[in-house]
Amino acid sequence: MKETSKRHLHNGKTIGFVPTMGALHEGHLSLIKRAKSENDIVVASIFINPTQFAPNEDFEKYPRDMEGDMEKLKREGVDILFMPDTKSMYSDGFSTYVTVKDLSDKLCGAFRPGHFTGVATVVCKLFNIVKPVAAYFGQKDFQQAAIIKRMVENLNMDVDLIICPTLREPDGLAMSSRNVYLSHEERRAAAVIYKTLLSASKMTKSGESNPVDVRKQMHDMLKAEPLISEIQYAGVYDTNTLDELNEFKRQNLLAVAVKIGSTRLIDNMIVEF
Ligand code: AMP
Repeated sequence: MKETSKRHLHNGKTIGFVPTMGALHEGHLSLIKRAKSENDIVVASIFINPTQFAPNEDFEKYPRDMEGDMEKLKREGVDILFMPDTKSMYSDGFSTYVTVKDLSDKLCGAFRPGHFTGVATVVCKLFNIVKPVAAYFGQKDFQQAAIIKRMVENLNMDVDLIICPTLREPDGLAMSSRNVYLSHEERRAAAVIYKTLLSASKMTKSGESNPVDVRKQMHDMLKAEPLISEIQYAGVYDTNTLDELNEFKRQNLLAVAVKIGSTRLIDNMIVEF
């Protein structure tokens, strides 16, 4: 991969990069379409990164669909699929990690210790290997995008980050590789996440409430769905610090993480004034 990238760079080509963990859906493909429209060469990677999963998480059963993925990538006209194996990414003696302090402990980080160190480390490695001029991430994983942005700034990396909108199912559920874990009933119940965000965004825009009221309304709506087994967080956050807000700012992040049965789902929306 390094040699291939060097050759393209030497020939003056721009490389756009879309890192993924596979089990591709339209959300992933939207990033690829955007990358295709803005670069000479598009590289997609599929790597289920073990260092971002805790021992009790779903690394082993994470959905895999290599044949389907390859067909989708071909259809989208991806130039290069980079699919490293775990041993070549984490060889014996691997001991260097990237931690974006502070941002990594908030929101999802509070429930997934070490997760964002795994993410920042693998993205740093992938950037060094692929050498893209631009990399494409989904807003669905807002905290991940914020952490990678901070890493790129702090470590003076030459990569433009393009954050793309969240693609949704017809009932509003954010597309996710993990949605296949949901039973029929759970899948139906999962629509409450988007409904909660929509209603919170209306309330925010109305100008007649504060973030504390919005948070309460979000929790009330989520609690009313019996198949939600845990609300990890739901509320209004600062888009830069990811801290919970007591007063609205110009930009406000409405974010939710819940478990439906044993499946963890996240989603968010930004409201700007
Ligand atoms: P993943 O395979 O889950 O690691 O996701 C790879 C990339 O696709 C990340 O940048 C995600 O934020 C992005 N992504 C995942 N789901 C969606 C979605 N529904 N809409 C847009 N982008 C998404």
